[in-house]
Amino acid sequence: MSSSGHVTHPVRPAPLFLGSERGSALLTIRLGALVENFRLCAISSVISVAGVVKADAYGLGAAPIARALADAGCDTFFVARLEEGIAVRPFVPQARIFVLDGILSENVEHFLVHRLTPVLNSLDEISVWSQAAALRRTTLDAAVHFDTGMNRLGLPPNELAVLSTEAAKRLAGINPVLMMSHLACSDDPASKMNSEQLQRFRAGLAMLPPAPASVSASGGILLGKDYAFDLVRPGIALYGGNPHPATPNPFRTVVQLTGRILQVRRVDKGESVGYGATFRTARPSTLATVALGYADGLMRAIGNKGSGAIGGVRVPVAGRVSMDLITLDVTEIPSAEPGTEVEFIGDTISLEEAARSAGTANYEILTGLGSRFPRHYVSAP
Ligand SMILES: *Cc1c(COP(=O)(O)O)cnc(C)c1O
Repeated sequence: MSSSGHVTHPVRPAPLFLGSERGSALLTIRLGALVENFRLCAISSVISVAGVVKADAYGLGAAPIARALADAGCDTFFVARLEEGIAVRPFVPQARIFVLDGILSENVEHFLVHRLTPVLNSLDEISVWSQAAALRRTTLDAAVHFDTGMNRLGLPPNELAVLSTEAAKRLAGINPVLMMSHLACSDDPASKMNSEQLQRFRAGLAMLPPAPASVSASGGILLGKDYAFDLVRPGIALYGGNPHPATPNPFRTVVQLTGRILQVRRVDKGESVGYGATFRTARPSTLATVALGYADGLMRAIGNKGSGAIGGVRVPVAGRVSMDLITLDVTEIPSAEPGTEVEFIGDTISLEEAARSAGTANYEILTGLGSRFPRHYVSAP
């Protein structure tokens, strides 16, 4: 398992291989494809591409992902939580790390010690950071996030108006290195929310001191140059997800989840499969049971709906997904036998197909990936 070109996450304990390939599932992460996707996000030569590595880089491992991006020239990262920023810092010692959740007065010291940059989401947070600067007789970098329609985080319009008229006082000691907002409907290029939010973003920027600006996550990157400003903040696009699921995916596949067949059985017509006996064979069938289940992130909702793939050929899920196991109808694949590899996410079953079968989004498929299988980082695209 240590052939060259394979990098195993140094922090996770080494996976145990007990002398048999049977049953071993694997999450393969193609760092070469990640880097290609990072480059694809640079839709113009004058913008910066920041890597969003919140939620452990969408389940893929924030440390190796951040390091690979930094090696490719990425010098700015976003995390959601303070703890995530602290965890990523040692792997990208030179980079700027923004913390989207913002600042609490009791956390100021952690931000300073780990050189993290808060995204200030309210006048209160701006005040906390300004006071921290005054106390230390210094100037502190921050991003200012104002809301343009998400109504989730960021200064609401009334606070933006106050900040605008009292900018010198309110931002005393703060060096605003980024003005940002977030789009609600950027996955749908036809939504008129996009241009409305763009207009509000421009109006907000005009009310504030000049600073680099950012409004686009992955979906916004595909909306074109008007939405690029100075910095884009892709997450899902880096990891190979399609930000506009209704059109072809311009990004490369990064993630492959495979399991192996534990057992194959031939059954008569009319036999039931799995808990609740929700599937009955309509013909004499061959069933294969694979060692992956909902505890590994195969959503229970794909029971009788989703597919695996063997050698690029889809095989339907038969019956419910169990905690540790999933059963497939492999009648059409005579070569299927114990040990055969089955793909559940990858080149055949895209993240979007996996999400559709489960009635969810590509984001939830990634962040729902389990921790029971090893993550293997390969440099090949
Ligand atoms: C999660 C997040 C992103 C990244 O979003 P993707 O759709 O995965 O590209 C960017 N900006 C903010 C504020 C976020 O919360």
